[in-house]
Amino acid sequence: MIIVLLGPPGSGKGTQVERISKELGFYKISMGDLLREAITKDDEIGKKAKNHLVDGKLVPDYLVLEMVRRELEKEKGKGDIVFDGFPRNLNQAISFDRLLNLAGKKIDIVLYFDIPFALLARRLSQRRVCPRCSTVYNLETAPPRSHNICDKCGSTLVKRRDDSEKIVKSRFQVYERETAPVEEFYKRRRNLLIKICSDGSKDEVWKEIKKHIEKKSYKENSNQKGG
Ligand SMILES: [Zn+2]
Repeated sequence: MIIVLLGPPGSGKGTQVERISKELGFYKISMGDLLREAITKDDEIGKKAKNHLVDGKLVPDYLVLEMVRRELEKEKGKGDIVFDGFPRNLNQAISFDRLLNLAGKKIDIVLYFDIPFALLARRLSQRRVCPRCSTVYNLETAPPRSHNICDKCGSTLVKRRDDSEKIVKSRFQVYERETAPVEEFYKRRRNLLIKICSDGSKDEVWKEIKKHIEKKSYKENSNQKGG
């Protein structure tokens, strides 16, 4: 089964990707991880990607697709894959279909993490991080035992610069502009989109996701048996 996760940064999809991979045994292909890996290894793709990122640009589609193609080759045979952070624009989505076709695969579910900007901004404004041991807290949903003090090392917690409202807003707008057409593509042309309401707790969201995956795999199994 192939699952694609869509959602803006801060929608909580990172946590859920980990669970799909660890608890259900899916092979995880996360574009963020792949890029960081390529850059650390400083291989051919990593060098090219770095040049674009240094200039403040997005990594071009052909590089992203090449990374996905290589990962699909590595994964050969396992079958259950979850994609995170890809495809992020319409061109990538269309090329992705072709790539999968060539590999004899297809997307089964697209989970879209729907979160209104106001909620996202509030959630991130409550986020605090320990400058010493990097533990992340949320004053609302996962507060430290004593106010603004790290449970693990006793340091005073700080707000990350990345979490300022201005930066959050601009990331959200870039995401919406690029990914809205991808959402439309999977919804109208492929009929694969499932909206996940990401304002529940992490466990509630996980339950919902698991239900959709199980339903889909049950359907596939009974189709294969001819039922
Ligand atoms: Zn700490």
